[in-house]
Amino acid sequence: MLKKTKKILIGNWKMNPESVEKAREIADKINKSTKFFKNTNLVVCPPFIFLNEISKIFSKNKKIFLGAQDIFVGEGVSHTGEVGSDMLKNIGVKYVIIGHSDRRESLDDESLVREKLFGTLKDGFKAVFCVGEKERNEHGDQYNEVKSQIESALLKLPKKLLKNFFIAYEPIWAIGKSEKNAVKPEDLHEMSIFIKRVLSDIFGIKEAEKVAILYGGSVTKNNAKEIIEHGNVSGLLVGRESLKLDNFVELIKSIE
Ligand code: PEP
Repeated sequence: MLKKTKKILIGNWKMNPESVEKAREIADKINKSTKFFKNTNLVVCPPFIFLNEISKIFSKNKKIFLGAQDIFVGEGVSHTGEVGSDMLKNIGVKYVIIGHSDRRESLDDESLVREKLFGTLKDGFKAVFCVGEKERNEHGDQYNEVKSQIESALLKLPKKLLKNFFIAYEPIWAIGKSEKNAVKPEDLHEMSIFIKRVLSDIFGIKEAEKVAILYGGSVTKNNAKEIIEHGNVSGLLVGRESLKLDNFVELIKSIE
């Protein structure tokens, strides 16, 4: 079981790397570098095709958890191209990313995101639920957008499922950019308070306080520490930098 007080660092490999050899190389290096971790729980989310191999590499490492970038949660097995809960469980996956903006853009609408979130939590995984506005403006429309994403996915979620629930605030304008485009820690701090308030309106303050909020969007070894220290978040969701091995190890050192 993860201790919530530890920082959570999620590496989302997206559609990388291009070969299983390269995937093994990255996982080996991450595996070896965990010796110095004390205060970080690392979750690595490779593409489905590499999960089997990567799971073998991390099998004895208690500081690294395996995550999936998506899941199929419907009934039956007649679903060409999909990967279901049992398959992921049997391979050692503990976390699932739900509602990433890459998927919301083309594949997953709000009702599918909700279905996946409920299914993932009911099936006993930890769900990393991504929310984030397309644009930020001075009228504060970003708050309404994030609130509506949370409400649409979470209303009527049984409270008992919240123990395995994480929110990753990933403003779309900050993803895949240069590090200077990451959110400003003070803006993140406000958004994090706002997210807790929205959760508190749905589930009550006690439950809302327990939910860990993460940030993702152009995090690098250079800005991770400041974001964690001043952004009022419990961890980070990192895309590209999680594949640049030396940088990623530096990033972990900086938040340790
Ligand atoms: C992401 O895709 O979730 C992400 C945070 O990417 P990056 O860190 O590359 O901006």
